[in-house]
Order: sequence, then C-alpha cells, then structure tokens
Amino acid sequence: MEKKYCVETQCVQGAYDPKSGEPRVVPIAQSTTFKYYDSDDVADLFDLKATGHFYSRIGNPTVGALEEKMALLEGGVGAVATSSGQAASTLAILNICKSGDHFISASTIYGGTYNLFAVTLKKLGIEVTFIDLNNPEEIYEAVRPNTKAIFAETIANPGMNVLDFKAFSTIAKELDLPFIVDNTLATPFLCKPFEHGVNIIIHSTTKYTDGHATSVGGVIIDGGNYNWDNGKFPELIEPDPSYHGIEYYKEFKESAYIIKARVQLLRDYGTTMSPFSAFLFHLGLETLHLRMERHSENALKLAEFLENHESVNWVNYPLLKSHKDYELAKKYLSKGASGILSFGIKGGAENGKKLAKYIDLIALVVHLGDARTSILHPASTTHRQLSQEQQIQSGVLPDLVRVSVGIENINDIIEDLDTALKAATK
Ligand code: PLP
Repeated sequence: MEKKYCVETQCVQGAYDPKSGEPRVVPIAQSTTFKYYDSDDVADLFDLKATGHFYSRIGNPTVGALEEKMALLEGGVGAVATSSGQAASTLAILNICKSGDHFISASTIYGGTYNLFAVTLKKLGIEVTFIDLNNPEEIYEAVRPNTKAIFAETIANPGMNVLDFKAFSTIAKELDLPFIVDNTLATPFLCKPFEHGVNIIIHSTTKYTDGHATSVGGVIIDGGNYNWDNGKFPELIEPDPSYHGIEYYKEFKESAYIIKARVQLLRDYGTTMSPFSAFLFHLGLETLHLRMERHSENALKLAEFLENHESVNWVNYPLLKSHKDYELAKKYLSKGASGILSFGIKGGAENGKKLAKYIDLIALVVHLGDARTSILHPASTTHRQLSQEQQIQSGVLPDLVRVSVGIENINDIIEDLDTALKAATK
C-alpha cells in the first residue's frame, strides 16, 4: 500500500493487496518450505538476487505481510518479525554489536530487557552502560570508542517516563551512533519514532499489536536513515564469510541492517515468528487505531478518577497535568499516552496484594496491552524475588499497582476498581 494513506487506513488495509480471486484476508501459509521447478530459481533466492520464500525460518508470506505492515506503519524501509519482543531486542543489538563492543541504554526500561542487557549480553562480551533517562547528558560520560548504539523506550515500562526524543537523537547524531527505540507501549499509532530521529525500532507485538493476549512475538524495523559506512560497523561493510562474501551495505545500501538481521541472524539463531501468530498480529493491527484511542481515553479518565480517590497515594500517567513528563507527553503523545498507568495504594504492599481479591471485571495477570483491563501488584508477584531495596531501585515501590486499562466501558472499569480499592483499604 502506498504511503499516502492515513495511518488508520494503513492499519486496516496496509501491506496486503489481494489480486482478483485471491483471499480477502491475508492467508496463513502454514508451510515450512516452498516448491520450485528450477534449481536456478532457488539459487537466485539464496543469492538474494530474487525475492521470494524458500524456508519459513528465514521468511514466510504471512509473516512477510506482517513485516511489511509494521514497516509501513512505522515508516521504515523493512522489518524482521521475531518469536518474541525479547528476541527482537536481542537481534537488534547483536546485529551491530559483537564481543568487545559496548552500548548505552536508558536504565528505566522493561525489566526483561534490562536483564538481557545487564546479564545475558554481558556473558557474550557485550557491555552496557545504563544512564538516567531524565539526564541524556550522561551519554557523554558513558560513551567509549567501542560504543555501537543507544537504546531507550518511547514510554518506559513500568515507570511511564516519556522519552525526550530530541535530546537523545541530537546526542546520538553528534556521536554518530544508531539510536534504537522500543515503541511497544506507544505503538506506531500514538508515536512515530523515525520522525524524531530514531534509526531502529523494536516492538513486543505480544502487547498492543496483538491486543487480545493470544500470541507472543516481536519485530525489528529499520528506518533506513543511518549511515553504516562510517568505520564503526565493519560487519555491515566487509564481506560476510557466512553468506558467501556478501557485502550488505554495498548491495543493499539503506536496507543493509535489516537484510543482515534476516539472512544472518534469523538464519542462525532461528528466533522466527510462526505464520499463525503473524496472522493474529495482522488481524490485531486492523483495529490498532481504534483500540489505542480507547485505551488512551479510558486510561486518562481512570487516572483522573484515581487522583481524587481516598485510597490512593499517587497516580502515574503521562497525560496527567501533575506528571513530570507532561510537556513531553503533549509533544510526542498528542493522540494519547496508551493504556498503562500505575498508582500507589494506601496501606502499601499489604493492601496492594489484597486488591486482587476484590476485583471482579478486572483480572490479575502478568501482561499488558490487552483489550481487557488487568492489574498487577509487582512487589508481591513479578518482583517478589528482589529485596525491598532492589525493588525500589528498579522503580517498584511497595504500594505500586500497575493497571493495563482495557477498552471496556470506562464506568464499569472505574466501578470495579473503586469497589476493590475500598474493600482492600477498609
Ligand atoms: N519491551 C517491552 C516494553 C515490554 O513490555 C516487553 C514485555 O513485557 C518486552 C519488550 C518483551 O516482549 P516479549 O514478552 O514479547 O518477549
């Protein structure tokens, strides 16, 4: 689909344009492999001289339709779908960092990504320096000759901090480093990071892309707007011995990063999305614009309600005037700040834990971005193995309750939470 269509139209019809007599809905190509009559055709595919599919670990028509749609929505030159959001973050970094390299990340990011960067990538010889999201100047102290990237989240999970794109991208440009952003919580409907100086975007499609809590997946999208030929990324410039000497930048110019991610890393690590999951994500995207509007509208109404609630100590939602990032949220999230908020329950950890007993419509789940409203008390669940000091360091206060506000009628959500809060803090 041409880029001229508005984002809502791209969500519904983007990246799949059936010819006469073909299925109206993107079909599920549940096949590991694809039949050819001439070995030369297969050779051309292997040599990347022709486009097409030969083995679903590396590419598949249903997965391809999702990749195209995500690239279209974000405004990138190409995308690679992965088996999870964690796989997307892993490949996004491994595509440009090898043992002995270093990168910089905001410290306020999803806990799983933090652990991946701090512990698992470290074991591979890739070091990270975490910096304060509110103080991008720290990048200047953190940067080293072997630094290869800067990473942050548009809306941090669960801190709900809003990224100062301008400050980060200005420094990234000045230091000539690629800027990678996790746009999971905002989605391309609420925020378009490539318009704010970002070079690579990743998503956990498990969240709002799916929107119905059915499938785990991820995607990497390449903005095609970084010059890899600056002496820092020899693996994109020099011949790849694992792919009969291909020189990615010479062959593919602005798509070099995303082609390498597919034909080298997806091939070798095999962190592939299944066609059925891709079908569900594709379907989910058809209503992304409607859902994100309602998630955001409901979350703001709930946040305003909770701000005046007798059982609540504080509320954290970027589009509340009281939020420290309100100005950034107005600038970068003018259509809404998604459906995630957190609040502090009076009585602390004990009552936070008790709250789940009194909810009815709302569910206790370890997930977010679902059409159905859910809550979580991280201190007694996801973060229970940490000491209280470690919990506080990672932003998990004892009284913190996270809400993933769904798209039900807001009055029902408010009533359910109000009843539960009163019962839990009685
Ligand atoms: N990025 C963000 C912002 C997340 O919230 C999550 C998971 O919660 C991930 C990445 C990891 O995604 P997945 O669970 O699909 O591996």
